[in-house]
Amino acid sequence: MIRDNINAVEDRIQSACSLSGRKREEVKLIAVSKTKPIEMLQQAYACGCRDFGENKVQELLEKYDKMPKDIRWHMIGHLQRNKVKYIVDKVYLIHSVDSLRLAEEISKEAVKKEVTVSILIEINVAEEAGKFGTTVREAVSLVEEISRLPNIAVKGLMTIAPYVENSEENRLYFTMLRQIAVDIIHKNIDNVFMKELSMGMTGDYETAIMEGATYIRIGTGIFGEREYTSV
Ligand SMILES: *Cc1c(COP(=O)(O)O)cnc(C)c1O
Repeated sequence: MIRDNINAVEDRIQSACSLSGRKREEVKLIAVSKTKPIEMLQQAYACGCRDFGENKVQELLEKYDKMPKDIRWHMIGHLQRNKVKYIVDKVYLIHSVDSLRLAEEISKEAVKKEVTVSILIEINVAEEAGKFGTTVREAVSLVEEISRLPNIAVKGLMTIAPYVENSEENRLYFTMLRQIAVDIIHKNIDNVFMKELSMGMTGDYETAIMEGATYIRIGTGIFGEREYTSV
């Protein structure tokens, strides 16, 4: 089942790339494995997936221990400052940095462990209430402040678009994220790269690819619906 799902997603990625004149290698697929058991991650791994996304520190650490070491782990969920120390030397990319205080904590722990941590700035482009992410208005100054911290590299931007029936409704948010990245590039900030745009999920990734996504984060489309059990 997972193999079929991955093949179907792969086909759709390729057609979105050719429709928009992009190369397939420009778009990296992250298998979002949150809530899913290790056996399913192993199946995805056997199909060639090497990028996995998790949104909880504890779950990421458990899976990190059990899975092969050539996996690139992506932290895509809200990150509490007191948990940063557990993951700074284990994650490939933190997608969800939305405050200076969180970035300072990441920087501090990265210095201690003598690593450089790659991050994305999460922006709530749709300005949805109750969602994480910095505002569009504050994004540029936040990037400037974070860029001065040691052992941290800002690689780009991330957004979680609203849940919609028709992915076209999210196109403007993807365009906005790309535009903010362009604005930041024009500021030539030291240590800031802005090569990566993490946007697009199961419901809207083709639209995101057409608007320039370099990382798409697919959970349901690969692993099926999630069941959340209350603990
Ligand atoms: C769960 C999650 C995804 C994957 O969502 P699907 O709709 O299942 O593809 C992507 N990004 C983030 C930040 C998530 O939390």
